[in-house]
Amino acid sequence: MITINEHYLKLQSSYLFSDIARRVKRFQETHPEKEIIKLGIGDVTRPLPPACITAFHAAIDEMAIEDSFRGYGPEQGYAFLREAIAKNDFAARGADISADEIFISDGAKCDTGNFQELFSNDIKIAIPDPVYPVYLDTNVMAGRTGDFENGRYKGIVYLDSTRENNFVPTLPNEKVDLIYLCFPNNPTGSTITKEELKTWVDYARDNKALILFDAAYEVFVRDESLPKSIYEVEGACEVAIEFRSFSKSAGFTGTRCAFTVVPKQCMVYDRQGCAHSLHGLWNRRHCTKFNGVSYPVQRAAEAVYSEQGKKQVRELRDYYMRNADLICREISDLGYDFVGGTNSPYIWIDGKQDSWQFFDQLLNDAGVVCTPGAGFGSCGEGYIRLSAFNSFENVERAMQRIRLALK
Ligand code: PLP
Repeated sequence: MITINEHYLKLQSSYLFSDIARRVKRFQETHPEKEIIKLGIGDVTRPLPPACITAFHAAIDEMAIEDSFRGYGPEQGYAFLREAIAKNDFAARGADISADEIFISDGAKCDTGNFQELFSNDIKIAIPDPVYPVYLDTNVMAGRTGDFENGRYKGIVYLDSTRENNFVPTLPNEKVDLIYLCFPNNPTGSTITKEELKTWVDYARDNKALILFDAAYEVFVRDESLPKSIYEVEGACEVAIEFRSFSKSAGFTGTRCAFTVVPKQCMVYDRQGCAHSLHGLWNRRHCTKFNGVSYPVQRAAEAVYSEQGKKQVRELRDYYMRNADLICREISDLGYDFVGGTNSPYIWIDGKQDSWQFFDQLLNDAGVVCTPGAGFGSCGEGYIRLSAFNSFENVERAMQRIRLALK
């Protein structure tokens, strides 16, 4: 008899996006004349930067010729891309990361989800609330939690992100071994200072813990005093893994390219306390289960670091951030408390009411779709997330309608 991994039965179905879709469908059926503007999703809307498109085409042409055709590439990624990343994303910001510490992949979702495989099942895990659900669900699947009760999985140390701590969780009271952090944050849009990040790095060093730092939204950090990488903090190379993605920075959500940094200094311990290289373990896992990102996609990603590419990525970022600036201005004028939108494409708004009630109000009275905060964890109750990923014209119209609806 084939038996199930029973940990899957503990998973809470993600009703969030299906619930949203159901409510939107019902609204469209009852108001066929009303056009809906979606500010809920976290997907980009602008096309790939022209520099990426040119490199993409050229690489595909290479694949058409026997002499330049490429079959399987290195599982860890081509040196041309790993070197461009090390130079531009890390060395340029004073972070000492070498090309062979960078693993190219097809997404930060897979990498943040897969990384937990390297650890034993009895570690203590700290996960923020609200949170990007992948961190939590993959640990549930692996059997590192108890049942789901009163809105939370037993065994997880939840790190509350609230107005009181400015949506930056503080150190847990109990000892933990693995810590997930995400800045700029999805869903709250909050950012972390170097000093705050240092308290986490110091904690991890003192406790032989590890930080999994998700920097998928680093491109939106406009404030130069804020860290884009955890490796800008002294000592982080010993205790932190960083996840990055071209999805939001260069519009690669449908093209798929990302990378994970595993510094050689990072150690993980066996039951006898002997240290093992995390780099070696991830390399083993990556080469066993992954066969590399396609050559044209890696060439397209490399073009992000050309002079033209850098300029175009900045323009792309500025386009979305103009939307974010407009959303922040309007929400502030309406008297709502919010966070995010300054160094992040997400704006996290205190609706002063139940998340779903606020969602329904925006849908029914303004024809605008948002994401109810309660879907990201119990600390998200009362909040909604607006996303800056849309055309400026749509954001302008959506905010005019919201202004009329909420005034
Ligand atoms: N990490 C966070 C925090 C995200 O919000 C997302 C996507 O929305 C991802 C990772 C996924 O990135 P990718 O498209 O590279 O899989």
